[in-house]
Amino acid sequence: MKVLVPVKRVVDYNVKIRVKADGSGVETANVKMSMNPFDEIAVEQAVRLKEAGAAEEVVAVSIGPQQAQETIRTALAMGADRGIHIKHDGEVEPLAVAKLLKAVVEKEGPELVLTGKQAIDDDCNQTGQMLAALLGWAQGTFASKLEIADGGAKVTREVDGGLETIQLKLPAIVSVDLRLNEPRYASLPNIMKAKKKPIDAHEPADFGVDPTPRLKTVKVSEPPPRQGGIKVESVDELVEKLKTEAKVI
Ligand code: AMP
Repeated sequence: MKVLVPVKRVVDYNVKIRVKADGSGVETANVKMSMNPFDEIAVEQAVRLKEAGAAEEVVAVSIGPQQAQETIRTALAMGADRGIHIKHDGEVEPLAVAKLLKAVVEKEGPELVLTGKQAIDDDCNQTGQMLAALLGWAQGTFASKLEIADGGAKVTREVDGGLETIQLKLPAIVSVDLRLNEPRYASLPNIMKAKKKPIDAHEPADFGVDPTPRLKTVKVSEPPPRQGGIKVESVDELVEKLKTEAKVI
């Protein structure tokens, strides 16, 4: 079984996000970028499937600027076998990503696509679902457990109030949630080995996809600053303040 893992280059989750002065978006110049954390979990799961003998090949694919190749190299250092880079400098929306991934799937023929449940920059949580719809494939979203057996995938999903387990026919798309696994750190020897693994370079036009955004960002703004807390002397005072100041009771 071949596993395809889409990996997105995003602002590192430790970075304190700054909104651009003109409110047009988030500042990305001179900001540390990393692989989307959910995609690290997806890569880890794909590599574990390979280590367990359930997968033969893990292919990492990224759509983004030239530096997205660094993100692919991270996946290769974690254990992916090869990479596919589709170079695009501007913003790329989930539908365009899904169309490009569909073209890659048709070329590569994986039986499983493991995506992150969402990219932490746009928080869209759309790409995997759109890809499943475009391909007409089964999908299991928010996976906290994944087993490949009997020609199918058993996915345990985190839903409100508990867990749901579903059985999918392969080929399928599975989007991974936080508790599926803890991704490994790439060792130095594996980082060195990853430099020799191949990355195929493409452009969206190679797949006949126009990645021009269809949405216009009207405004991006910072959340309101948090007010400092106060200490109250008594329960009565607390209740009074909740009623008259916070107006929550
Ligand atoms: P989103 O729908 O934007 O929240 O993204 C969900 C998942 O789709 C991500 O966790 C990635 O696995 C994949 N994805 C989204 N954008 C890209 C991209 N530009 N390149 C590769 N994978 C992507």
